[in-house]
Amino acid sequence: MKTLSVLGSTGSIGTQTLDIVRKSNGELKVCAISGGSNIKLLEEQAREFSPKTVCVGNVELKKDLELSLNDTGIKVVSGNEGLEEVAAHEDADVTVTAVVGMMGIKPTVCAINAGKEIALANKETLVTAGHIIMPLAKEKGVSILPVDSEHSAVFQCIQGENQKQIHKLLITASGGPFRGYTKEALEKVTLEEALIHPNWSMGKKITIDSATMVNKGLEVIEARWLYDISVDDIQVVVHPQSIVHSMVEFDDGSIKAQLGVPDMRHPIQYALFYPDRFDFGLERLDFYKLSSLDFEEPDMEVFEGLRMAYDASRKGGNMPVIFNAANEFAVARFLAGEIRFVEIYELIKKAMNDVDHIENPDLEQILATEKAVYELLGKKN
Ligand code: NAD
Ligand code: MG
Repeated sequence: MKTLSVLGSTGSIGTQTLDIVRKSNGELKVCAISGGSNIKLLEEQAREFSPKTVCVGNVELKKDLELSLNDTGIKVVSGNEGLEEVAAHEDADVTVTAVVGMMGIKPTVCAINAGKEIALANKETLVTAGHIIMPLAKEKGVSILPVDSEHSAVFQCIQGENQKQIHKLLITASGGPFRGYTKEALEKVTLEEALIHPNWSMGKKITIDSATMVNKGLEVIEARWLYDISVDDIQVVVHPQSIVHSMVEFDDGSIKAQLGVPDMRHPIQYALFYPDRFDFGLERLDFYKLSSLDFEEPDMEVFEGLRMAYDASRKGGNMPVIFNAANEFAVARFLAGEIRFVEIYELIKKAMNDVDHIENPDLEQILATEKAVYELLGKKN
């Protein structure tokens, strides 16, 4: 039996994680949950899973949540401090990091320092602070188990292999709703169109990241840290059906792939039960019904976000922080209807050109870089 602390329990990954707990026949328990501001759902989850602690990100909502849970004896905390408390909860064996964005860095560090295993969904943490997180996890002897489907696929492919004999990683990408578009066509896409993902149902930020293909760029950088491999040995392959979740090519030319229906509960359960597997009745792949599996090269001229991610990783230091923070800023503005889709790329480009480069940023410098990006891009022209 394992006890989980779930950061971001009200989100897409968070609710699917709790669904696995619900169906785990008591194999999984929850000691702490946290969400941003949806206190109605937090209350429901608290009553169903009986955690010891619940955190609401928005400090102004703490009183209301306390009031609604006052018959339960559950401790209510709030804000960043509360999130860090939940991340390092004394009863937790595993901390599931399913908050979105760079706000995931500090609680992840707290969880590792407290010796918790990490089931990592929050890719922005490794993208911006992989050079801190990976050595810290090694030092503390904790595993970072990938939840992202591509990284879970790679992880499954390398079981029993000599990691030094990996020739390259082949990270698959659906291509998003605008696959095949020209630059001109991309100029005209709307928020509504960008929010419709062909294969996956996910939170809004990652759905937009998939449409820009920035998500795939973030995943290349995430893989670079998880598997200690150069981004030049990571190839993105567009695969519109999202059945092959990723592949690994070994030194002898042999390739292993991991396949399955696109359902995030597959990789989540793998991270939570590793090295075992748990069958809780998910849909299975029927090869008689698969019409075809297609593969193509990504168009990095049109989907510049992917190319810029490679550039950011090659440049290193705080450049991936600049790339990621500018994207978070731009996506929030796009979701608010304030900028056009292609302006997301323009804002990332501007930040990568203008924000000062730092070679080996520590946590404070990472957060200072994020602030510098927001100041630069937030200035009204
Ligand atoms: P989401 O937007 O659905 O959920 C985010 C969660 O974070 C919510 O519970 C929200 O309430 C919480 N949150 C927001 N602000 C908070 C605050 N101030 N304090 C505490 N909690 C706060 O996002 P998601 O799609 O579940 O994605 C989560 C992470 O997992 C992202 O990093 C994403 O890239 C990654 N990921 C998601 C998927 C997917 O299928 N959704 C797949 C792979 C990776
Ligand atoms: Mg993914």
